Parts: sequence; C-alpha cells; structure tokens
Amino acid sequence: MNRREFLLASAFAAAGLTSSSVPVFAKQGRSRDKLGVALVGLGYYSTDLLAPALQLTKNCYLAGIVTGSPEKIPQWQKKYSIPDKNVYTYANFDGIANNSAIDVVYVVLPPSLHRDFVVRAANAGKHVFCEKPMAMTVAECEAMIAAAAANKVRLAIGYRCQHDPNIQAYRAIGRNRPFGAPVLLSSVAGFYDPRSKNWRQIKALGGGSVRDMGIYAIQAARMATGEEPMLVLAQSSTTRPAIYKDVDETTQFLLEFPSGARASCMSSFGVEMNYLNVNYEKGWLRMNPHSQYKGNKGDLSDGRLIDFSITNQQARQMDDDCAAIMTQGRLIAPGEEGLRDVRVVEAIYRSAERQAVVPI
Ligand code: NAD
Repeated sequence: MNRREFLLASAFAAAGLTSSSVPVFAKQGRSRDKLGVALVGLGYYSTDLLAPALQLTKNCYLAGIVTGSPEKIPQWQKKYSIPDKNVYTYANFDGIANNSAIDVVYVVLPPSLHRDFVVRAANAGKHVFCEKPMAMTVAECEAMIAAAAANKVRLAIGYRCQHDPNIQAYRAIGRNRPFGAPVLLSSVAGFYDPRSKNWRQIKALGGGSVRDMGIYAIQAARMATGEEPMLVLAQSSTTRPAIYKDVDETTQFLLEFPSGARASCMSSFGVEMNYLNVNYEKGWLRMNPHSQYKGNKGDLSDGRLIDFSITNQQARQMDDDCAAIMTQGRLIAPGEEGLRDVRVVEAIYRSAERQAVVPI
C-alpha cells in the first residue's frame, strides 16, 4: 500500500454506516451544527488535553462541567464561558437529563467510577464518551453497553490513537496483510511516574500499569495483527515496593493470537518506553512512538514511511465521534472495543496472580 492507499483505507474504515437509529440531540426536534459536551472530572486529562481540544473541534464544543471539587468551578466558568446552568456536582449530576444544552457527557474520572457515571449519563438520555480503561471488569463494560442500548444513546471510548492516521495506517496492514501473516510482535508502553498518591497506585480506584498503560500495548498488538488474543502469560514486578504495594508497577505479558502470532508486551510506571515492532512472514513494521499524543511515526520493510501530520488527536477523536452521532454513522471505538481490551486486562492480571497461562 502507498500513502494514498493508507489514507483511503482509513477513510473507508471511518465511513461505514450502521442501521441503528438513535436521537442525536439532547432534545428531539432541535438542530445545531455542534454538540454540547460536558466533561465529568476536571483532573489532568480534562484540564490539559480535552478542554483545550474542545476549543479546536468543529462538531462539538465545551458546554458544561461536572466536578466534585467546587473550588475549580469559577476558573473553568471564566476560562471557557460556561453558564451556571451547565455546572454540576457529582450529587446533582442526574439533573443533566433536563439540560438541552448538553448532548454528550464525557467521563474522565478514575476507572473505578466509569461504570456508574456512564450508566447515569445514559439513563439521563445523553450520548457518552468514556475514558480508557473502559471499566474495571468485563461485567461492568457489559452493563455500560446495555445502559447505552436501553436508552438509545451512543457510547464511545476515548481511544484517541484510533483516530490518528498513523495508527490507522498500521491497522490497515493488520487487516490487509501485505506482508503476509504476523509472526512476532513487541509492543510496550510506559512512563516514569514520580507520584505516590495518585489513583494509579490504588487498586480499588482502577490503578495498575496494565490498566493505565498496558491498554496501549494491547491495542497496538490487536490492531497490528487484526486479531484477538487467545492466551496470555503475565508476570508483574516492582522496583519501588513502598509505592507499588497495591498495584503492579511493571507487568510483562505474552499474548498468543489465533494465527500463531505472539506478542511480547510490557506496561510500566517505572520505565519510559513506547514502541511497536511487528515481524510479518515477508516484512516488518516499526512504530516509535506508537501511542503518544503526537509524533507517532514508523517505517516498513519496503522502505515506506508512516508519518502523517495530525493537528490534535483529541480534537479529531471528539469530532469523529460527534460526526458519527450526528450522522448516525459508525463509531471508530464503541463500547464493544473498550470491552475487548478489558477482557485482555482481566486475563493478564489473572495470569500474573496465578503464575500460569490463562485463556482469554
Ligand atoms: P487525575 O487524577 O488527574 O484526575 C482525576 C479526576 O477525578 C480529578 O479531577 C479528581 O478530583 C476526580 N475524582 C473523583 N473522584 C475521585 C476519587 N475517588 N479518587 C481520585 N480522583 C477522583 O486523572 P487523569 O489523568 O485525568 O485520568 C482520568 C481518566 O482519564 C482515567 O480514566 C485515565 O486513564 C484517562 N486518561 C486518558 C488519557 C488518554 O491519553 N486517553 C490520558 C490521561 C488520562
């Protein structure tokens, strides 16, 4: 495939339509060219990435906020001109059902809170975006998908990478297999986290390196092969036992795919790493980095480069998802995609605990 074919493959992937028919706007009969988004949880990702990205989006805008920290409200209202009527606490959040200015609720909380807020948002009749990892367990993911279906709203996972043309390019290789079958993969994602009191170090809140960073390694292996893993063998370790008492700091895991391909993966809060290597029968792919906010790039054994420019991943993600809502089109990363990864995460932790190979 050449560059143009890569682009075409991505465009086709994004263009498929479904037959599902759901209301687009919060109130029937209204029509606007942009959907109103409310961010739930005003921590790092909302503050530094999503709110700025919502200033660049064409299909949506930052309409409201939901927070448990009242001291943050004045600065958010002032910075983003958010009216009082679009500001909620966790306690009065369900009242959002009566707010026609909010079409989409974006849940950006620690993972243990995703299920409750997604279900509450869906029950309020709002479309929902949910950050990764989708939830703590497969059962929670299924409850979220069921709530969205029951309320006839859309549920998208905040997989920004799947909206990046560089990632879409290697995903197309996984589908089309120009180099034959994948045989050997190496997929890693991690960063050195100096914090000691973040939810990432607390199991009950959804911490652990596999849940936070392993998701990217799993996604890359799944997308590069175009397959779902069948077996996993995992082992966790830490170099900072005083901080990582409750969750894994680092986990290595081996995934086996139906074609026989094997992926050697690693997630960590103690190692700066982000790359994907794939050896196919008749060629190879290298991405370094493979899942950063920007600058993802790679090359192929036939000399071609994967190096598309992208202005803002998060803006593109939210624009794509809002376009899918407005056209009743296909979501690039619906709830079912988040569930697939959580299924693998569950199996990885089970394998590390049992020190045994676990089927997925
Ligand atoms: P953060 O710790 O910076 O913010 C979490 C927010 O949740 C804070 O505003 C905090 O006040 C609130 N909160 C509510 N109840 C809480 C509780 N019981 N304990 C702790 N905080 C509580 O975290 P973050 O980095 O913004 O991550 C939030 C979500 O976004 C996570 O799901 C994370 O995986 C995801 N995230 C995604 C990306 C990405 O690239 N897609 C990047 C960073 C974070």
